[in-house]
Amino acid sequence: MLALLGRYARWLHTGWPAGRVEPLPECDADGRTNVPGVFVCGDLTGVPLLKFALDSGVRAVRAIANEPRSEAPLIILGAGVSGMAAALEARRLGLACVVYEASEPFATLVNFPRHKPIFTYPAAMTPAGELRVAATVKEELLDELRTQTTGLEVQRGRAERIERRDGRLQVRFEDGATRAASHVLVAIGRSGDHRRLGVPGEELEKVTNRLHDAAEFRGRDVLVAGGGDSALEAAQALVHAGARVTLVHRGREFARARAENAAAVQELARAGRLDLRLETRVQAIHSADVELASVADGAPGERVANDAVLTLIGREAPVAFLRRSGVRLRGDSHPLAPVVLTAALVLLALLYDWKSNGFLEAQWARAAWPADVPQRLAGLGAWWAAQVADRATLLGTLAVSMKSRSFWYTLVYTTVIAWFGWQRVQRRRTPYVTRQTLTLFLVQALPLFLLPELLLPWLGYRGAFDHGTGKALADALFEPYVSAADLAARHWPDWGHPRAYWRAYGFILAWPLNVYNIFTHEPRWAWIGIGFVQTFVLIPLAVLRWGKGAYCGWICSCGALAETLGDTQRTKMPHGPGWNRVNFVGQVFLAAAFALLALRVAAWLMPGSGLGTAFDLLMEGKSASGHLVNPLSYKWVVDVLFGGVIGVGFYFKYSGRVWCRFACPLAALMHVYARFSRFAIVPEKPKCISCNVCTSVCHQGIDVMAFANRGRPMQDPQCVRCSACVHSCPTGVLQFGEVTSAGQIIRLDTLMASPVRAREAAGPPVPPSR
Ligand SMILES: Cc1cc2nc3c(=O)[nH]c(=O)nc-3n(C[C@H](O)[C@H](O)[C@H](O)COP(=O)(O)OP(=O)(O)OC[C@H]3O[C@@H](n4cnc5c(N)ncnc54)[C@H](O)[C@@H]3O)c2cc1C
Ligand code: SF4
Ligand code: SF4
Repeated sequence: MLALLGRYARWLHTGWPAGRVEPLPECDADGRTNVPGVFVCGDLTGVPLLKFALDSGVRAVRAIANEPRSEAPLIILGAGVSGMAAALEARRLGLACVVYEASEPFATLVNFPRHKPIFTYPAAMTPAGELRVAATVKEELLDELRTQTTGLEVQRGRAERIERRDGRLQVRFEDGATRAASHVLVAIGRSGDHRRLGVPGEELEKVTNRLHDAAEFRGRDVLVAGGGDSALEAAQALVHAGARVTLVHRGREFARARAENAAAVQELARAGRLDLRLETRVQAIHSADVELASVADGAPGERVANDAVLTLIGREAPVAFLRRSGVRLRGDSHPLAPVVLTAALVLLALLYDWKSNGFLEAQWARAAWPADVPQRLAGLGAWWAAQVADRATLLGTLAVSMKSRSFWYTLVYTTVIAWFGWQRVQRRRTPYVTRQTLTLFLVQALPLFLLPELLLPWLGYRGAFDHGTGKALADALFEPYVSAADLAARHWPDWGHPRAYWRAYGFILAWPLNVYNIFTHEPRWAWIGIGFVQTFVLIPLAVLRWGKGAYCGWICSCGALAETLGDTQRTKMPHGPGWNRVNFVGQVFLAAAFALLALRVAAWLMPGSGLGTAFDLLMEGKSASGHLVNPLSYKWVVDVLFGGVIGVGFYFKYSGRVWCRFACPLAALMHVYARFSRFAIVPEKPKCISCNVCTSVCHQGIDVMAFANRGRPMQDPQCVRCSACVHSCPTGVLQFGEVTSAGQIIRLDTLMASPVRAREAAGPPVPPSR
């Protein structure tokens, strides 16, 4: 049984790539960080490409030029392409500016291997500012950059931290010297912090993290540690240069590297030209050999003869420097965050208790608002009083709706979607985002707000449901709360509308996201029919064609809030194998919903058996006498605690899709459907630069890059088609589409979701990148 569950877990969620996102500074489009006066640019902003580095440096300086400045100069840290482009722009704008460099100008490029080919992608992009890159090999690139920056003075100095003293900014250098700054632009790239193995002997001189010239290692025993492209490319270069190479990688496969690099290395290993050690780690480095160990059980392997070790296990943003300087990194929380989060959760718990007539109802009932809204409206004057008195007027109908707490909740919800949706459309200008956001807003505003709160009750008061088909439909869908005689005599209840118009939510929110139209005391056949068709016919068909996002990204109200209010919070979703296991919370809730469905049906079939009472206790938390007694019931745990309190409370901690990714039972069902879907995000592999931007913006925690850089269609069932990865990819690698089970493309979406592709479509054709 356990083995079966394990296979199911792997098939559904845990078998997908699950790489994590490296921490980068939190900044706006101009590079402005949380520390006033401190900006970042270049590789630190996330895209490791020369043209983006040039562009971001210049834009940061332009933003600085528009800020109030002290008499101290702008200090630029790092004389790489970004820092030098920024310095040229500062000179052009007449800003006093000093550049500090730890090693030598363009040090990162100087350290590229000899004759390394250079790809200046995207070809259609012209970076802001004066500095240009056009060369196709390293040496020419350095020549052209040095020529263009002649005359720019660069001071030697390794910045240790940025400080604020008496409200003034200063940079402290490694030698203890300080220099006051009006603003600081951090352009130190990501080459500073090479990841370390953390093993004895790593400090030996033969250990390095750069390969300048493979020919230097001819005839020597070289160990390369790493499983990414740099390690695999270095290993190949070394083999071809005549070195005896051992490649050590902790993983079972090369999940992060390009498929062609992985294939080339495997080929060399098969041919006996390279010693490939997978699921192995370096345990210690000695002067004449290296000790290896198995990753699985830690058992020591043999000692391998060795002259040189290349540790190519990746680079990190200079996290320590940024933290010392107070710059917040993506995913970092504010020191007060736990307090704010706790307060938000408590407030949300109170809000949902209020909205759902919960455990504190005795306290809430004391407040006159919102039950007194009709009287307040009537008090505005005679015309208002007449309108309110006549429920057949629009205002009269609305006044009754306004007595209910859910009216105000839904109004605020809809307004938030409208406001933040507008901002999303401004921020992400693609036809896809515009159409998707508009659809989400219209679904929320019309069937999920105006229909139950205004249109249906108003039609009812105007007699549309008094006889004939209208009455038959209304009786089947929105049962009356009052007797037939009162309905016929138009005696309306004082507390609200005479029919259950709120059931109209069920037109959009399907079982088991909305269980209330199915889990009724008597079977409501119309809703059972609608629910069955939605959940087991329409949604599966849509998911098979367009993926789970057809519902989660284009229809659902939870998705609407996540894509609008949550649009700026995407990078906060945690990634990694551990978090992929949390995805199974939804499967547990789905199982609970099916169990309750079985109990509900049994209780219908055996009235008076006590099963109905048991159902109420487990579903709504109510005892036989109708009192709320069970806070651990489905409604209070799944709907209120997870759907409301945790789902919304964690928006600013773990992004807007916490509920959708981890807990929603309908999403859990759609994940199963999605495993049979043709939907995929199709990558154009040669353009992928493995920058990880796509993974970092995915608020469903998907490791998009691991698919893209291996040329595999992305078919993780968690995808909600938000388009953030497609939109953010700097080289326009990704496209929505459909593929066969063998991965062959059936069709690609025509609705443009990538601004890079849109530009390319409008301009000359673009060659593939490095
Ligand atoms: C092997 C490799 C191949 C690449 N190939 C390509 C390619 O073909 N095409 C492409 O578009 N891009 C390529 N890139 C990416 C490109 O090199 C980077 O995007 C670009 O160099 C980033 O510029 P930057 O100014 O942000 O950082 P960098 O160029 O890294 O410059 C940072 C500078 O800051 C200095 N510094 C570091 N710490 C401090 C400190 N504390 N104080 C003062 N100074 C400091 C460093 O010495 C360095 O000079 C490649 C990168 C690598 C590593
Ligand atoms: S469209 Fe991209 S970013 Fe959005 S959920 Fe799917 S994979 Fe993640
Ligand atoms: S698909 Fe695009 S965003 Fe993702 S790693 Fe590749 S280049 Fe970067």
